[in-house]
Amino acid sequence: STSGGSDAAALVARRDRAFAEVQEHYYDAPPRIERGWREHLVGTDGRVYLDMVNNVTPLGHGHPKLAAAVAKQLRTLNTNSRFNYGAVVEFSERLAALAPDPLDTVFLVNSGSEATDLAIRVALAATGRRDVVALLEAYHGWTYASDAVSTSTADNPNALATRPDWVHALDAPNPFRGVHRGADAARYAPEAADRIRALAADGTAPAAFIAETFYGNAGGIPLPDGYLAEVYAAVRETGGLAIADEVQAGYGRLGQWFWGFEQQGVVPDVIAVAKAAGNGYPLGAVITTREIAARFRTQGYFFSSTGGSPASSVAGMAVLDAFHDEGLQRNALEIGAHLKAALEALATRHPLIGAVHGLGLYLGVEFVRDRATLEPATEETAAICDRLLELGVIMQPTGDHQNVLKVKPPLCLDRSSADHFVALLDRVLDEGW
Ligand code: PMP
Repeated sequence: STSGGSDAAALVARRDRAFAEVQEHYYDAPPRIERGWREHLVGTDGRVYLDMVNNVTPLGHGHPKLAAAVAKQLRTLNTNSRFNYGAVVEFSERLAALAPDPLDTVFLVNSGSEATDLAIRVALAATGRRDVVALLEAYHGWTYASDAVSTSTADNPNALATRPDWVHALDAPNPFRGVHRGADAARYAPEAADRIRALAADGTAPAAFIAETFYGNAGGIPLPDGYLAEVYAAVRETGGLAIADEVQAGYGRLGQWFWGFEQQGVVPDVIAVAKAAGNGYPLGAVITTREIAARFRTQGYFFSSTGGSPASSVAGMAVLDAFHDEGLQRNALEIGAHLKAALEALATRHPLIGAVHGLGLYLGVEFVRDRATLEPATEETAAICDRLLELGVIMQPTGDHQNVLKVKPPLCLDRSSADHFVALLDRVLDEGW
């Protein structure tokens, strides 16, 4: 076993009794972790781990100002958003100001699943339709509608066979290992647009097209140039809406852009955001136009007991303050570029690395057994993650083949931590992969 000894193992055994086992934990023998600080996690045996995977905490762990702001609000007032208090107004104004025109209206919820689910429901209400177009190899959440458009077989091996009939999945526009590769990746967009037009011609015009704006679940892969412009145009031409799932890609992680859709040069009709927005405090949002939001009235009114509560709104604002004061997006740009270059240098020495994907601190190191066939190195990736844990680095696989290292650390990652990760990965790869 790795760390924490019997204390950690006993806790896992208790966990598997009380906490439904289907809620899996990382690693076979995970260390027991009860503290965190910046990009570090601390085991109960005092061992410090470098957390290279935690995209829920862009500010880092144990952020004092966020903790103080939420604690103060919890001592003062925490209630639901049907009461009239300032925090929900101020946070909504600040979120709306971050979105491009004409997106100026905010719904507040508690998670990414709720945000994508509500985005879909908003689109169904606004269009009076029932069909939705999604991408293969996507993850959007666990609620009924967000799960329905989640096609990734990594989380659910039966995903494709069990989608409801209103979900239509397009080819994963993966330029590295999808059906069209390299320069041929330009074919994904016209094929997707044709499929959307065909759905409309069949009388099942979609209410919406939903996609991550930068392919996170598949391993931090940018969509082909112009992909979203062409697909958004096709869905709008047939009367549907473009939903951007920014739960992972948004909030500055890409470094150069605050939103993933900016990288594609488009503006969606509906944005779903969460994760980073609360730095681990439950918080999600849907941002859309006043007109689209008003169409939700056809469903009655919208209310969430804790979405937009004073504490959650204050958490959201403390996160935005920290983004500004601590230069996190700039750090994602600078440290991300440094880290990507170092990982690319590793690829010249280790043939197992088939590609280093991504931008900013949203990177993916894809392992292949053969650079020509791209046979995924799935077992090797799991073993590398286990070995990295022994060396003190938290890292996990992603993608349908579970052969991509999900390099999505807190955005406060410093240069020496980035270099430490690369040095240890180099060492692990030298050990015999
Ligand atoms: N969309 C994307 C792209 C995600 O990565 C996730 C979470 N992994 C979700 C939605 C769902 O968010 P949550 O876990 O907060 O419900």
